[in-house]
Amino acid sequence: MRKLGALLGAMAVGIGCVWAQPAERTANKEAVMASVENHKSSLISISDQIWAAAEIAFVESESARLLADYAEEQGFRVTRGVAEMPTAFVAEYGSGSPVIGILGEFDALPGLSQDTHPTKQPLEEGAPGHGCGHNLFGTASLGAAVAVKELMDAGKIKGTVRFYGTPAEEKYFGKLWMARAGLFDDLDVCLDWHPGDDIASHVQSSQALVDFIIEFRGQAAHAAADPWNGRSASDALELYTTGLNYLREHVKPSVRIHYHIQAAGDVVNVVPDYSRIWTRIRDSHMEGVEVVRARAEKIAEGAALMADVEYEIRLVSGIREVIPNRTGGAALQANLELLGPIEYTEAEIAFGKKIQEATGKPQIGIDGEIYPLKPTSETPPGGSTDVGDVSWIVPEIRLSVTTAPSGTPWHSWAVVACGGMSIGHKGLVFASKALAMTMVDLFESPELVAEVKAEFQERRGDSEYVGVLPAGPPPLAQAAEEAGK
Ligand SMILES: [Zn+2]
Repeated sequence: MRKLGALLGAMAVGIGCVWAQPAERTANKEAVMASVENHKSSLISISDQIWAAAEIAFVESESARLLADYAEEQGFRVTRGVAEMPTAFVAEYGSGSPVIGILGEFDALPGLSQDTHPTKQPLEEGAPGHGCGHNLFGTASLGAAVAVKELMDAGKIKGTVRFYGTPAEEKYFGKLWMARAGLFDDLDVCLDWHPGDDIASHVQSSQALVDFIIEFRGQAAHAAADPWNGRSASDALELYTTGLNYLREHVKPSVRIHYHIQAAGDVVNVVPDYSRIWTRIRDSHMEGVEVVRARAEKIAEGAALMADVEYEIRLVSGIREVIPNRTGGAALQANLELLGPIEYTEAEIAFGKKIQEATGKPQIGIDGEIYPLKPTSETPPGGSTDVGDVSWIVPEIRLSVTTAPSGTPWHSWAVVACGGMSIGHKGLVFASKALAMTMVDLFESPELVAEVKAEFQERRGDSEYVGVLPAGPPPLAQAAEEAGK
């Protein structure tokens, strides 16, 4: 990304040559659009079932089963429980090259249970909900893969289409273990999408991050009778967070530091001998994350020294920033323009405005417009995704589609509400068509695949992908305990 200026110039030439021309409604594109329409009721039903099941990271057994079963019914070869994760699977159809992959997520977020109602109304207080729209994400991606499979059956295109059921995107990042298992290595190009509040061929990067847990261990004592014999693990934790908060003044503006105190004693009359804190550091590039991570580790050491306690730092996992691909993005953009805007009914617009009213946003309705392809900026927006790791292994083409009204606070009840009704369903169908049409371009044109790969090589440079994750299997037991399963 540091070579971006020069690269953008070069890419503009490349895009101008082959992929800037308006796309045509070819017979193959009409066929995949028709396929999505044919499967629409099944896809919406699967999405609604995943929405209702609302399963969080690594316990998404029903959600994964719904998608894997559907893929199998459609004739895909399905391998379940890949990369040591029971809810990860791969569904493949066809043979030979090109091998085009598509990612599907399906995990929910804790505490966001919500009915399909435009004001906060949990279905079950405290239960999980699809506050990131992953019920739509997984289903639309599979719908696109099925449409492509049907075009292969019709003898119109040749190659391999592969759907990846990728669990635990919201916590732990399941794609890391799939990447370590080499499951993306033989792909030519991969695609994904994400629900949002607008439609865009997504040519931005994302933030890299690292998650680590620090445990402090001291000496318990009666808090009044002999506190001088106590060594407080909570003191160390407080000193650590104080140091971390002072550090905020001396990091780059692109850095974000978050923490979650997980344990800090149980009662007021005991000097706590144990404390635990989860820290997350983000920056635009993993190099920047590592700089701040090293500072945080020193702060932990200093805090432990001051409180005279032991400490241990444990890596949870880390994810890379996305390597964008403008060549692929331009091909996708042409298909968005071909599809045209999403139209909403008056009832849907009214629903959207009520959501905006309830969340303190301007009541401007829902944005289903198609805009020109945006420039790729050096400083990505605030979010992170484990799609980033996939984008370091193969070129990734990314899409955002409206599934909620403009300005909807993400990871909130409002996203859940829209994801279970027609606003979300329309986004699902649109995403499925746009992704399938772009896959048609890739299957039909070895030149496009080659250009997408060339840009990927140029942007990645010589850096080899190395996953940031601990040795051993994914933390399934811990995740199940956290989910109360
Ligand atoms: Zn998400």
